[in-house]
Amino acid sequence: MKGYVHSFESLAALDGEGIRYGVFMQGCPLRCAYCHNPDTWEKGGTEFSPEQLVKKISRYKLYFGKDGGVTFSGGEPLLQSEFIRETVPYLKQEGINYAIDTSGAAELSDAAQYVLQNAQLVILDLKFWDDKSYKKYTGMGISKVLDTLEFLEDIKKRTWVRTVVVPGINDNIEAIGKYLEIFKGKKCIEKYELLGFHTMGFFKYENMGIKNPFKDTKPLEKETLKELQNFVDNELKKP
Ligand code: SF4
Repeated sequence: MKGYVHSFESLAALDGEGIRYGVFMQGCPLRCAYCHNPDTWEKGGTEFSPEQLVKKISRYKLYFGKDGGVTFSGGEPLLQSEFIRETVPYLKQEGINYAIDTSGAAELSDAAQYVLQNAQLVILDLKFWDDKSYKKYTGMGISKVLDTLEFLEDIKKRTWVRTVVVPGINDNIEAIGKYLEIFKGKKCIEKYELLGFHTMGFFKYENMGIKNPFKDTKPLEKETLKELQNFVDNELKKP
């Protein structure tokens, strides 16, 4: 089976533990209004077989150490769960861990369940807090995301939740509190990270000739992000 990759990022310290090799899979079921990777949305990308992909990843094996490894991101990696499922044995053979960075909005197929079950860590990008806001800003409802979250709790998978904080949409304590309500008390959640909206992907909208709904929005102030993260950290410490 072939997989379709948008791009790679060598040795990033984000998107999981330790030093990571990022594999950005092509294709996404969502259309987040603030997306900074609209070039990952449609089908396309570079074709790889599982062996070819793992051969490429293996070149970085020495740098991974105990905690590092590969992170499948996107786009939405679980849209290509069948391919990742076929890739997992080759990664295991090389002793390489993998993390999945997902919106949780893809079908929870057998392949997707296998891929989540075998991951070292899952990063769940929680876009919005209810069906209405999820639909308004991503084009899809929240039900698949909630199913994925339940599944992660059932299998006790180590999970980090992340949310992009966008000025004028969710950059306040009331909104962030609503996200917390969704997963508070779930034992699989190890941490909740807030990420500030930025404008680095804006040029892609221009290049692709598509409308950018946030073209007049400024990046989130660092101070606001810090305040909201402090709020979250304190809330999660409460029993
Ligand atoms: S899930 Fe990620 S890649 Fe897909 S539209 Fe949203 S921000 Fe963009």
